[in-house]
Amino acid sequence: MKKRIFSGIRATGRLHLGNYLGAVKGMLALQDDPNYEMFFAVVDVHAMTTPYDKQELAEKTREVVRDYLAAGMDPQKSSILVQSKVIDLHAELMFYFSTVVSVARMQHLPTFKEKVKQHPDNVTMALLNYPVLMAADILAYKSDLIPVGIDQEPHLEVAREIARKMNEQYGTDFPEPKRFATKGEYVPSLIGEGKMSKSVEGSYIQLADSKEQIANRLAKTPTDSGKGESVPTSGGVANLLTFVELFRGVERRKQYEDEYVHNGIKYKSLKEELAEAIYEELKPIQERRKQLTEADVNRVIAEGAERARAIAAKTVAEVRQKMGLG
Ligand code: ADP
Repeated sequence: MKKRIFSGIRATGRLHLGNYLGAVKGMLALQDDPNYEMFFAVVDVHAMTTPYDKQELAEKTREVVRDYLAAGMDPQKSSILVQSKVIDLHAELMFYFSTVVSVARMQHLPTFKEKVKQHPDNVTMALLNYPVLMAADILAYKSDLIPVGIDQEPHLEVAREIARKMNEQYGTDFPEPKRFATKGEYVPSLIGEGKMSKSVEGSYIQLADSKEQIANRLAKTPTDSGKGESVPTSGGVANLLTFVELFRGVERRKQYEDEYVHNGIKYKSLKEELAEAIYEELKPIQERRKQLTEADVNRVIAEGAERARAIAAKTVAEVRQKMGLG
């Protein structure tokens, strides 16, 4: 039987370089392998776990579908799945899974604590259940391999625990899903601390950005005098060097590191070089995006939902029976 690959991105805005390098590139690396069957989701219901605008949710969902297709996802090879189209099945599974997860385990997750800090007035059951719904998304397809960024590792650990407990207590046959890592598994923020994220203004470069927009965003990254005894390992300069490595290669990074401890780095030209290299990578994506029609997006969403439903419904029926619901 083919191994299944699953990954998802929240419908909270246009994709950025972190989503692309940490998740989408992994998805693309696997989609040509005939040993795998792919499910790539836009997790619009997960977007409801933090404050959101109901007027914009549906359009943001379609934007992520467009970004997936523009990035090179082939709907013949990969099913693109909008989570809300099969939420009846995923949410049912989430409930069954929640019987083997303790409240304390969820409350102690770093991702939960972070969201509590960001939105102290929105600490809801939905937020607490986020990782359980994610486990349901993954295990509905009995997925083995999950191309996601390193920030998702604690959630994958929860999914593995759920798979183990379900298998032990109810005799199901869920695999323990593993992360498929890319070299961009952690793309730092442009503002010098934390990761690049859709929900942190100023932290990101979007796949849709023009060369000028990329340059303007990079211009705001904090730097120093360009020279020192040792190369910084955190903050804006360290992050710029990570971008150099990701887009210009490790050798180029070493040259800059050498300049830092000798003649000094000129950040203006480093940033120009980076803007150029990033735009070169994004240009073909932006061109493919222009070719997409609304009909393409509708078709991909309908086909993805149909393929996903067939598999998820089977998993849910199995779990119902094994848990004693008959
Ligand atoms: P965001 O935090 O920008 O809203 P999501 O939570 O929707 O992104 O994550 C979607 C995917 O993108 C996940 O696989 C996540 O691990 C990956 N991802 C998000 N930010 C980064 C980053 N800065 N570096 C690498 N991968 C990332």
